[in-house]
Amino acid sequence: MTISRFHTLTSHDTVATAATTVLAARLSEGGAVFLPGDEGYDTARSGYNVTVQHRPAVIVAAATAADVAVAVRFANDHDLRVVVQATGHGPAAAADGGVLISTARMTDVTVDPQGRTARVGAGVRWQQVIDAAAEHGLAAANGSSPTVGVVGYTLGGGLSPVLGRTRGYAADNVVSIDLVTADGVARTVTAASEPDLFWGLRGGKSGFGVVTAIEFRLFPLTQLYGGGIFFPGERAGAVLHAWRAWIDSTPDELSSSIAILRMPPAGPVPEPLRGRLVVHVRVAYLGSAEDGARLLAPVRAAAPAIIDAVGELPYPAVAAIHSDPVDPLPVYERSALLSDLSPEAVDRLVDVAVDNAAVPVTLVEIRHLAGALRRAPREPNAVANRDAPFLLFMASVAAADEAAAHTAYQERILSELDNWTTGLTFGNFLTPGDGRVEHRATAYPADVHARLVALKRHWDPNGRFDLSGAPAH
Ligand SMILES: Cc1cc2nc3c(=O)[nH]c(=O)nc-3n(C[C@H](O)[C@H](O)[C@H](O)COP(=O)(O)OP(=O)(O)OC[C@H]3O[C@@H](n4cnc5c(N)ncnc54)[C@H](O)[C@@H]3O)c2cc1C
Repeated sequence: MTISRFHTLTSHDTVATAATTVLAARLSEGGAVFLPGDEGYDTARSGYNVTVQHRPAVIVAAATAADVAVAVRFANDHDLRVVVQATGHGPAAAADGGVLISTARMTDVTVDPQGRTARVGAGVRWQQVIDAAAEHGLAAANGSSPTVGVVGYTLGGGLSPVLGRTRGYAADNVVSIDLVTADGVARTVTAASEPDLFWGLRGGKSGFGVVTAIEFRLFPLTQLYGGGIFFPGERAGAVLHAWRAWIDSTPDELSSSIAILRMPPAGPVPEPLRGRLVVHVRVAYLGSAEDGARLLAPVRAAAPAIIDAVGELPYPAVAAIHSDPVDPLPVYERSALLSDLSPEAVDRLVDVAVDNAAVPVTLVEIRHLAGALRRAPREPNAVANRDAPFLLFMASVAAADEAAAHTAYQERILSELDNWTTGLTFGNFLTPGDGRVEHRATAYPADVHARLVALKRHWDPNGRFDLSGAPAH
């Protein structure tokens, strides 16, 4: 049976029959097909952010690039929408009724210590790369969480709390991308082979095809001075003002963010932090411990810490800086780029996020954007808004019946900071579950967005990878 024969098959039953027979037969030994009701279907569709529940007609657990191509052709033949999931940290839209391509089995990592590059499969999570690179004294522009997927992170820009300030976004350091486009063809995309597509893939988020592997630059780093300091929430004003006054004088080798956090009452949380409202200053300094301690002194002096866990840190332990949760959670997110964080803005933020401590906010974070994050990269790409010096990110862990209160509260913080928000945000912090085209436009200025839309029309003319949830045609 050839793939084109699927054109004559239309009903759910026939899709299911074709999936279990022809599709399954075409996959590699490591690949698998799951249909609703199959053992393994629920595991294969699950991800980190459980507010988005994929209910696809077919799941293809791809093990190779060829498996991905087979899955895309299958979707074409049945006119099904395609959604890709690696880890579920940033789902744009549910895959309901379509094909969910899970890349979780594509976990190859190869480090080239001489060329200082890594080539990783689409299902690889950051800690795997961190460990592999560290064996050669190298480091990547990884994000805060060890379990976020490398490919999804890099497609949305990739803001590293360790190397961003000296090396730019992860997308700025990509050498080559292997991609299956909507026509089911596997391509290697580089600055030389497909300059426009290469531009858009690096920062333009998903929707141009399914990335099967990515190659990017690594940098020498074995050890840093880093970690987090937890201060009591009652001292938030003093700590935020001290941090804001301090960061302008810090060198590019020092990256930092600050978060107002309501800690969970139980779980893997140190006892003195449980259930408390705290301020968390996160630091990564690429120089010596001595210099780092000297640089950090003004922040340490702002208030007595509950826990001060900044010190010498081997690069493989870099996830300790943010200590992001790693188990699946229902998370509601909002974000905004800020044009400034004046003392008045700090006061407003503290008033709304701390004085009203009864409100249900879990995390309000400000990341400092500086150095290479604000400069044009060596090869232009779709990461935009590089003029903004701060990124506000909010995340609430909430049950569905509490979601409205969390969302309203996040809206209130945005409204309090209205004078300082740019109206745009960062691609990787677009709200999960919101696949609207107009929502994605908030991550890009009009000219960049228009170029991405044109690129999308060219490479995905039938909207196979549409994020809106609309049918493919
Ligand atoms: C706890 C936490 C910490 C984070 N920290 C940072 C940070 O420090 N810096 C930062 O920049 N971002 C950060 N993020 C955001 C994160 O980078 C994005 O949510 C990213 O999209 C997650 O990618 P994923 O593959 O893990 O998730 P998924 O939900 O599996 O994928 C996210 C999106 O990427 C697309 N995608 C994934 N794989 C492919 C592929 N192979 N081909 C085509 N499209 C694909 C999917 O279609 C989906 O829309 C964080 C998120 C969380 C939840």
